[in-house]
Amino acid sequence: MKNKFFEPNTFKLNELMLLGEAFLLENNIENSKKEIEWFVIDKFQLKLQDIKLNNKKKISEKNKFFFIDFIKRRSQGYPFQYILNKSSFYGYDFFVTEDTLIPRPETELIIDVAKKHGSFDFCLDIGTGSGNLSITLFKEKVVKQVHAIDISEKALLVAEKNKKIHGETEISFEKIDFLNYNFKKKYDLIVANPPYITKKDYKKLPTEIKSYEPKIALTDFEDGLTFYKKISKNLPLILNKNGILIVEIGLENTKKEIDFIFRKSNFILKWYKDLNNNYRALKVVHSC
Ligand code: GLN
Repeated sequence: MKNKFFEPNTFKLNELMLLGEAFLLENNIENSKKEIEWFVIDKFQLKLQDIKLNNKKKISEKNKFFFIDFIKRRSQGYPFQYILNKSSFYGYDFFVTEDTLIPRPETELIIDVAKKHGSFDFCLDIGTGSGNLSITLFKEKVVKQVHAIDISEKALLVAEKNKKIHGETEISFEKIDFLNYNFKKKYDLIVANPPYITKKDYKKLPTEIKSYEPKIALTDFEDGLTFYKKISKNLPLILNKNGILIVEIGLENTKKEIDFIFRKSNFILKWYKDLNNNYRALKVVHSC
């Protein structure tokens, strides 16, 4: 029964889609119907309407192969976004590979908070990954120039590709190990979604995340606070007067510790909640 899907004797799109849906459901992929539709729309360049109206049509051998390959990989928990090499962030499409974290909806809060403040001349994006934050800040006209850094050369290649796709020119990507770097410049806006998962919690993550997403983008292999401490220590040196820092945090139970890390004179703190009503972002204003 389990392997029934792998030798489908049909080339009809509707039959393949139904078999695929059932197979993914058996393998605990709950959103299988929608995912299959998205896959077919993206890979076969069809509109949802075409699928609904013409789905009894036959597909080519090549497309059947792609479809079966998708169902195989997805049934093993391989993330949907990596299969499509695409992820949506703030309504924009980003190219993603296993070298970058898949942008999460809760990270969009950083953009919302930045937008509330109008615009900034010079921004630093720490741990840019796919470049989603930098590029979105441009798209939303929040920043004029960005210095986006990451320790991973492979992630930066993905970010460069996104810069090209979106046609944003004023972003310079640079390979920098933030934890061992002395900054020479000051910025008006600093954003970061640092690897905040503790070494202990990392082990408990679902396999779908642990097996495929880059480990260094998720955990600092310590207490999850390493990046906040380093940012806070450097803040007077890297943030201009009246500039702001916006960082994402993980679990609410770290809020108190992170608040303590950033609480110092001349810095005003404000916390923001995400759509699930969890504290998710901290804004720090350099007040004078
Ligand atoms: N800046 C990227 C994001 O917010 C990547 C963050 C990371 O790799 N920790 O999605």
